[in-house]
Amino acid sequence: RAKAEGRRTYRFFEPEMDARMQARRFLELDLREALGREQFEIYYQPLLNLDRGEVSCFEALLRWHHPTRGIVSPVEFIPLAEEIGLIVPIGEWVIRQACLDAASWPEGIRVAVNLSPIQFRSARLLSTIVGALDASGLPASHLELEITETALLANTQATLTMLQQIHLLGVQIAMDDFGTGYSSLSYLRSFPFDKIKIDQSFVKDAEDVDSSVAIIRAVTSLGSSLGMQTTAEGVETAEQLDRVRREGCTEAQGFLLSRPLPARDIPAMLERARAVVAGDISEPAPEV
Ligand code: C2E
Ligand code: MG
Ligand code: MG
Ligand code: MG
Repeated sequence: RAKAEGRRTYRFFEPEMDARMQARRFLELDLREALGREQFEIYYQPLLNLDRGEVSCFEALLRWHHPTRGIVSPVEFIPLAEEIGLIVPIGEWVIRQACLDAASWPEGIRVAVNLSPIQFRSARLLSTIVGALDASGLPASHLELEITETALLANTQATLTMLQQIHLLGVQIAMDDFGTGYSSLSYLRSFPFDKIKIDQSFVKDAEDVDSSVAIIRAVTSLGSSLGMQTTAEGVETAEQLDRVRREGCTEAQGFLLSRPLPARDIPAMLERARAVVAGDISEPAPEV
């Protein structure tokens, strides 16, 4: 009986598996054309400096306008791009475009770009960054790079040297999604980050899980001792904003301030952030 069922399961899953692999294969073919067909667009999401009550930075979040599927999430296509070796050219386009966009923003507002671990293994990274800053006229201090713990997993001397060279240009380095990877603390010792971004899962739980609050408190205290900024990710309500401010976070990011939006919406996002600071808005921005 088990054998019969097993055979039935096999027959049932095989075509479905095929369909999924087909879909992935088609997406891969489309992704190979996407850059040349100018289907990528950078959305931006503000980070609020909690000491000054002003937007300090916009994070660049990549979107793919697929001709038939609409907007595809980076959660879906970034891993695929990493697998098929496209992340380096796509990532280079993001760095150049983000610097060009940021060069026209109000004085003092920085841009943060996410980097894939694979970009660190490319010898071109440093010259791409230097080239993007030169071409845009954006000061190095106005560019921030976000890397996750996985980028440092290899933690080779080459990775460290690359980070140090980028840092020497004056570019800021942030650790993204802190608390979700491995051996977080040893990375903070091996490299002088400018900022720690506390993963949104801790912020979400802060209202009813004591251990999440304890972790936020510990990270902000650690950050302040090490001279690093601490950003709370995923702040959706005025209560959460108040909470992370009281726990010592120096920056907040999340749907309360704005969802990620196209570059043309920067003025509207600055306006909304001011209304949040004034206490006139306490709910997350609706999905558009
Ligand atoms: P991330 O760098 O941690 O970016 C934050 C993600 O959280 C974004 O998702 C953002 O839209 C979402 N988010 C922000 N505030 C809130 C909130 O209040 N509530 C909730 N539920 N979500 C919030 P997104 O834009 O889908 O990006 C997902 C991930 O894709 C990013 O996570 C980043 O790891 C990656 N990614 C995006 N753009 C790029 C890129 O240009 N290069 C690389 N290598 N990775 C990218
Ligand atoms: Mg990020
Ligand atoms: Mg993050
Ligand atoms: Mg994330």
